[in-house]
Amino acid sequence: MFLAEKYQEILKEIAPCKLIAVSKTKPIADLLQAYEAGCRDFGENKVQEMLTKQPALPQDIRWHLIGHLQSNKVKYIAPFVHLIHSVDSLKLLQEINKHAQKHNRVIDCLLQIHIAQEETKFGLDFAETETLLQSEQLNLLKNVKIIGLMGMASLTDNQEQIKAEFAGLKRFFDDCKEKHQTENICFSELSMGMSGDYTIAIQEGSTMVRIGSLLFGERN
Ligand SMILES: *Cc1c(COP(=O)(O)O)cnc(C)c1O
Repeated sequence: MFLAEKYQEILKEIAPCKLIAVSKTKPIADLLQAYEAGCRDFGENKVQEMLTKQPALPQDIRWHLIGHLQSNKVKYIAPFVHLIHSVDSLKLLQEINKHAQKHNRVIDCLLQIHIAQEETKFGLDFAETETLLQSEQLNLLKNVKIIGLMGMASLTDNQEQIKAEFAGLKRFFDDCKEKHQTENICFSELSMGMSGDYTIAIQEGSTMVRIGSLLFGERN
């Protein structure tokens, strides 16, 4: 079930930051409720699930891939995906570029940065990101555009820790924005904040929050 009142409340609270409704594991009926409440940005973490939902829902929805993307799956989402939040290698960017070209599109991407303490999360560190942004090969990719960064804070109750991680990512974002501006790099979006930590993320400069359980209820 989609909580329309909660949605309106969060929208007001976070404006002008954008809200991505994370609909993973939720049935089409729930997404339709969200759509009817005005939501147009949906986030899914699995390619297969996005592919099942996309044709069944209105075509003006903007689909955000927020989970790890394998190179061999890029071709399936290339025709329609709006923004890929989870890019973490040049190889993946090259693959996205190749398929975007086939569809005559430029696909917007965020680089996923590892800011949490947990080892398990995907993403680049700051040094790897610098290297990627400076690479000559990136310059050759005309069908992808890097428009910012995405990060997930540690899974902790320690608010100071979360705040410090988001603040660090914001500083790095500002730094990249100043240093890197080319035809296919233009920093404008900072995707950070989920149900448990979006308030802190907003305070620290997020432009896009990805909220699931607070809008759709807990996942099984
Ligand atoms: C599931 C997920 C979210 C949303 O999580 P909630 O805690 O349900 O808001 C946000 N970002 C990513 C990358 C996710 O996988």
